[in-house]
Parts: sequence; C-alpha cells; structure tokens
Amino acid sequence: MSARAFVVGSGPNGLAAAIELARAGFGVTVLEGASGIGGGCRSSARLVPGMIHDDCAAVHPLFAASPFFRTLELDVELVHPEIPLVHPLADGEAAVLHRDLDATVAGLGRAGRRWRRVFAPLVRYPDEIADLTLTPMPGSLARHTVLGPRFGARGLPPATTAARFLGGDTPAAALFAGLSAHAFSRLDRPLTSAVGLLMGLTAQTWGWPVVRGGSGRLTTALADYVREFDGTIHTGVTVRRLSDLADFGYRGATAGDVVVLTTTPGHAATMLAGTQPARRRRRYRRFRHGAAAFRVDLAVRGGIPWLNPDARRAGTLHLGGGAAEIAAAERMTAVGRMPEEPFVLVGQQYLADPSRSVRVDGGWLHPVWTYAHVPAGYRGDVTERVISRIETFAPGVRDRIVGVSTRSAAELEAYNPNYVGGDVAGGVNSPRQLIARPVLRNPYDTGVSGVFLGSASTPPGGGVHGMAGFAAARRAGVWAGMI
Ligand SMILES: Cc1cc2nc3c(=O)[nH]c(=O)nc-3n(C[C@H](O)[C@H](O)[C@H](O)COP(=O)(O)OP(=O)(O)OC[C@H]3O[C@@H](n4cnc5c(N)ncnc54)[C@H](O)[C@@H]3O)c2cc1C
Repeated sequence: MSARAFVVGSGPNGLAAAIELARAGFGVTVLEGASGIGGGCRSSARLVPGMIHDDCAAVHPLFAASPFFRTLELDVELVHPEIPLVHPLADGEAAVLHRDLDATVAGLGRAGRRWRRVFAPLVRYPDEIADLTLTPMPGSLARHTVLGPRFGARGLPPATTAARFLGGDTPAAALFAGLSAHAFSRLDRPLTSAVGLLMGLTAQTWGWPVVRGGSGRLTTALADYVREFDGTIHTGVTVRRLSDLADFGYRGATAGDVVVLTTTPGHAATMLAGTQPARRRRRYRRFRHGAAAFRVDLAVRGGIPWLNPDARRAGTLHLGGGAAEIAAAERMTAVGRMPEEPFVLVGQQYLADPSRSVRVDGGWLHPVWTYAHVPAGYRGDVTERVISRIETFAPGVRDRIVGVSTRSAAELEAYNPNYVGGDVAGGVNSPRQLIARPVLRNPYDTGVSGVFLGSASTPPGGGVHGMAGFAAARRAGVWAGMI
C-alpha cells in the first residue's frame, strides 16, 4: 500500500508541504481547523459587499522570491503598485523605496551614498539572496561563500546601528528602521538589520506585488495544485492529538506514513504529548511568542489624501516617524507597554489591483488595510490611534472613512491559533529564535518518528514563501525513503 502523508494546517507552508509530498508520490491529506483554507493568506469582503480586503498577508515579495513557489505554474497574477513603499515624514516629506536601487538612492539626499553601500553589493544577485535567506542553513551558507559573509556583515548588527550608519535622523535611517520593524522585535537587538536588509532587497529587486483579486487567490491556487495530485483537503477539522489522524487513514510511522504539522511548537507539543522526547518537548514549550498586531481595515471614499504625492502612488506605507521614534515604539511593544504612537503599516493594494474597489453613489470606495504593532496579548482598542496616525500625514482622512472593521490581538488568535497572543510572526524574532527556530539542529524534526514541523516557527520564519513547509516535506520524504 502506498505511503500516506498528513499535513495539519492549510496556510502557505501547509499547502507547500502538501504539494511537495504529493510530488514525491505520497497520497496526501490536509486537515485544516478553520472553515476555509489559506491560514494567514486569505481575503474577504467583510466590510463592504464586493470590496476585497486581505485578511492577513497582503504584500508578496517572498512569494515572488520563493525558490519553491517559483517552480510551480500557479494561476495567480502578481501586480505591482507604481512605488513599493513610502515612509511619510513631517511636513509632507517622505523617504521613498523604489523597485530600482538608483531611483531610491537619488531620492535619499546625502545619505543616498550610504544606502548604496549597504544594498549595492547584494541587490544584483536576487536569486542567490533568495537561496541564501530562504533555504535551510548551513547548506545555503556553504553555497554562497561570497554573498553569505556580505549579507552577514550587514545583517548581524542591530537595526539601530544600521540607522546610525545611515545618518541617524535622516529619511534613509527612518526608511531602514521601518523595514527592520517587520521583525516585530527590539531594533537594538543583533540581527534585526537582517530583516531590514531582506525587506529592502526584496523591494528593490522583485518589488512588493499584491495578488490580483486578493491574497486568498494565492492559497486557492495552491490548494487546486494539491487536488490535481489527488490530494484531499478537509476544513473544519482541528487536530488535537496525533491519534486524531487515524480517522483519516493515518497508520503510524511503522507503516511509513508521515505527518507535517504547520502549527506553533506549543501546539505541536500538545499534539505529541507522551511521544516526544523530553528535551525536544521542553524546547517547544519554551518557544517564545512576541509582540502582536492590531488589524484595522477601512473603507475610504476616494482613497487617503496623503500630503506627500508619492504616498498616493505607494502600495505600502510605514507610519512611524524617524528611526529613533520607531526604535522606541518597538522597544515598548516588545516589553509589553503600549506606545502612544505605535508603528503602523498601511496597504493600498487597490492601486495595483483596482478590481478590489467598489463604486458607490457615483464615487469609488477603496479598501485600505492597516495594522499597528501592539504588545503581546494587548486587550485595548487602538483603532483611534491608527486613524489619528494616518491623519497626521493625511489631514481630512477621517471625513472619507465610511467603514471600519478591526481584529484585536485576541481576535487574531481566535481567527488562527498560530497567532498566539496576536503574534503574526510565528514566534518572536529574538537573536536566539532567528537562529534556533525552534531548535538549532534539524529544526524540522519533532523528535517523533515520521512527524515533522514546517510552520513559520521553523526556518526561514514568517512570510508567504512556503519554504518552511517545503523543507519539512523534504525531510519527511527522505525519512520515508521517497526522496
Ligand atoms: C496581519 C498580518 C499581516 C501579514 N502580512 C504579510 C505580508 O504582507 N506578506 C507576507 O509574506 N506575510 C505576511 N504575514 C505573515 C504570513 O501570513 C504568515 O507568516 C504565513 O501565513 C505563515 O504560514 P504558515 O503556513 O506557517 O501558517 P498559517 O498561514 O498561519 O497557517 C496555519 C494554519 O494551520 C491551521 N491550524 C493550526 N492549528 C491547527 C490544528 N491543531 N488543526 C488543524 N489546523 C490547524 C490554522 O487554522 C491555519 O489555517 C502577515 C500575517 C498577518 C497576520
């Protein structure tokens, strides 16, 4: 009888694992607890009928860069805004990140030369950078003996050090700090520059595209791929114990069946209770989750009236002020305190994909996607702070908002159990967990025969790249002698 594979979770990593396992010849079953597939990559029209919002992931450079997803022919169209990212500053000024390094440098004034020194030695090698950062180390380091040290030298210091190199209070420093804030971590910690570097590299090479029709189209296309291989996907099935899989035909490791969990290490430890070696179980239990997101979706008549003209053409905006201000806000959220002015991201996906907007009473209603960084498990409502942050850079926006929908940290966890306390990064990006995620050696092995972990809590971490699921599936395939 042929080998069977079971994947828990249908986010980008779960579906990537399912595809790779199906390609290797396993009969694949995916089990998803939510009522629909997609995990952190779904979209909906929950605010205004017909107006599409991305529920979680919105911008897809990591999908575009993913060495695995690029091998698939998916029925997905990526579309680009004119400008990937604008970082508004006081008095209508802004730092602008273009798809092209020269264009970015030209807009950054005197700090432009330093920006070039940071990015120029890397930006010409997009495929190599993707392989270096998104495939398992140490193998990837061994393949890139020149680029690895170059990336390491720039990525190892704290983002605050990189911001000082870029002039401290310059627009370039603010831009880099905002990119590094994607780490959801204190910017004075080692390795936070690596996140800023990767974000900046993706924007200046692949751009920051969105998916025409909404991010959900991406996971729908991945699910279609699984089904083309005769894989089965069950939704509304929460797996609580490994033994639950028996209802779907799991025969255990002795029959050569494999399992890929795309859950958090904590949930995996619960599922594997009584079977996991004590040391590995302790590491899973001690895996730390970090700061959270507070999501705010807006329906805005005519779009946001940004003071800065480039901001009206940008797919993404970082609202955080200067580098020092961002570092201070990120430090507060990391230690559990809510900053008065949190770091806010704004997405205007409709600029690249007008099909997401709706026409009402002769005018356009546009979906605007935002979230603020808040402390883990934060219980308060920050909708007002998000709107007033936008208003600082776009006076009059309030009068144009005709609909608001929010998801607090707790509601995010209810929506997807992987977002523990509202942590959307799959675990805090501390120096330790950037390297040992959740463990240093064999990070995809759970210690239980035939059972592997391949979520955003394993390398290469958060994002819609599918590379964690892919790597866990490869490990499972090798274990079963199928790869
Ligand atoms: C607000 C927000 C914005 C983001 N923005 C971006 C972005 O712009 N670009 C980007 O690349 N990434 C972004 N991300 C991150 C990205 O969405 C995640 O890193 C990615 O989805 C992780 O994929 P995954 O497959 O590991 O987990 P998930 O996508 O979280 O999927 C895990 C799935 O497993 C299911 N599950 C969990 N436990 C069980 C169980 N016991 N039984 C059955 N099913 C279970 C869950 O219901 C879920 O569907 C964002 C995330 C959030 C929340």
